[in-house]
Amino acid sequence: MSDITAYPDTQLFINGEWRAGGGGWIEIVDPATDEVIGKVAHANRGDLDAALDAVAAGFKVWSATSPFERSKIMRKAAELLRERAPRIAPMMTREQGKPVTEAKGEVMAAADVIDWFAEEARRTYGQIIPARTVGVTQMAIKLPVGPVAAFTPWNFPINQVVRKLSAALGAGCSIIVKAPEETPASPAELIRAFADAGVPAGVVNLVYGVPSEISEYLIPHPVIRKISFTGSTPIGKKLAALAGEHMKLATMELGGHAPAIIFDDADVDKAVKLLAASKFRNAGQVCISPTRFLVQEGVYNNVVERFTDAAKAIKVGHGFEDGVQMGPLANERRIPSLEPLITDAVERGAKLKTGGRRIGNKGNFFEPTVLADVPLDARIMNEEPFGPVAAFRAFGTVDEVIEEANRLPFGLASYAFTGSTDTANRLGTEIEAGMTTINHIGLALPEVPFGGIKDSGHGTEGGSEAIDAYLVTKFVTQTAA
Ligand code: NAD
Repeated sequence: MSDITAYPDTQLFINGEWRAGGGGWIEIVDPATDEVIGKVAHANRGDLDAALDAVAAGFKVWSATSPFERSKIMRKAAELLRERAPRIAPMMTREQGKPVTEAKGEVMAAADVIDWFAEEARRTYGQIIPARTVGVTQMAIKLPVGPVAAFTPWNFPINQVVRKLSAALGAGCSIIVKAPEETPASPAELIRAFADAGVPAGVVNLVYGVPSEISEYLIPHPVIRKISFTGSTPIGKKLAALAGEHMKLATMELGGHAPAIIFDDADVDKAVKLLAASKFRNAGQVCISPTRFLVQEGVYNNVVERFTDAAKAIKVGHGFEDGVQMGPLANERRIPSLEPLITDAVERGAKLKTGGRRIGNKGNFFEPTVLADVPLDARIMNEEPFGPVAAFRAFGTVDEVIEEANRLPFGLASYAFTGSTDTANRLGTEIEAGMTTINHIGLALPEVPFGGIKDSGHGTEGGSEAIDAYLVTKFVTQTAA
């Protein structure tokens, strides 16, 4: 076992100061042990008003700071995060459960995201548009949209924040982050890295509290000009509707139900190895996790057996134990959400190849689970499982599998393994998803688009377009006085 570090209580960060909230303290539970390990401050209306004043003042300062200067401060924050990763990762494991090596990977990946947006900050180019009249200069310039409110979930406590925070800061926006109440300490360390790097007071603010109370107050508030949310589709629809009502720009990164398609001509060894690692990463609590495994008839039995072996070989345990590949589920709600999906599938005729149950009675440990021959009307083929469950089904033709992949209202990630370039080309354009990765796992890097379509949301949180979500285009035309 590695050292289990002390777990800090988490305060709010408003106008450059850490403070207790007026909403009291809420306990934090370690999902591996059920122990209370600390507490987090909750904001009341007074704290939110203070954060709104701060973010408005912060916007004036930060939008007047040159992109070159912003970029330098952001790079410093990335450096601090890398230095501090060995201390932050165990904190994340204690509050979220993921293996400490995965937690460390998340912190290091966050530093890469900051660097990417620090670079993008210096490239928020506008355009000079040729004028009809000599002496007239027509410019389309990019300006920061204004103060942002961001709402992020518990599955990647740091990475869900860092994409929004870095894009906003790169663009010149100030921000109030409502980070996840259940996993508060590691995102607070991200905020601390920015504060220590020299981001002026008020530019970055951090609150926790009752999510609906905070979003319902911040989104309509006139100070806030843009919102960004990551979480479930039903909540995303509510918040997008509220944003629409108040004419606020919104980025929505919502649920998915990713098809993982394996064709007869695929490299089956590679497909099973990569997809199993992807499926059980973070105990399947990943919006882009492969969930509907659609396998062509010729290799179906072979793939199911080998994937089952891979699931059985996953070492489940406390995130601090050496060699552990999967920790507990992140909160107690996950087990009662998953179990009925598995029971329902079996009742409808699916075969439970392995797993299906909670492990022990302490912590939220769950067996890596494989279901085969799952009928389309099973709940799990229609609802996002958000856990360590792979549901398999056979298919015959390319047309049939494309239709199945596109059947659901979700459209976030999709995966495919095929030896045919023609098939790969069809999938690249015909699968209705924001992201398709073919013959390898290549999603979620800072420099590539990351986002969904249909009920999975709108906007991208990666790639060169991501910063645009925090900018507005202004047209200026001028001539000599
Ligand atoms: P949930 O739907 O209640 O919450 C999901 C997230 O949204 C949480 O972080 C929560 O704090 C936040 N939230 C909820 N209501 C809100 C509101 N009115 N205003 C602002 N934020 C709000 O459910 P949950 O039990 O936390 O998670 C269950 C489901 O959420 C999962 O099954 C999964 O579908 C989805 N989820 C998705 C992601 C993702 O990365 N897209 C991450 C976590 C959870």
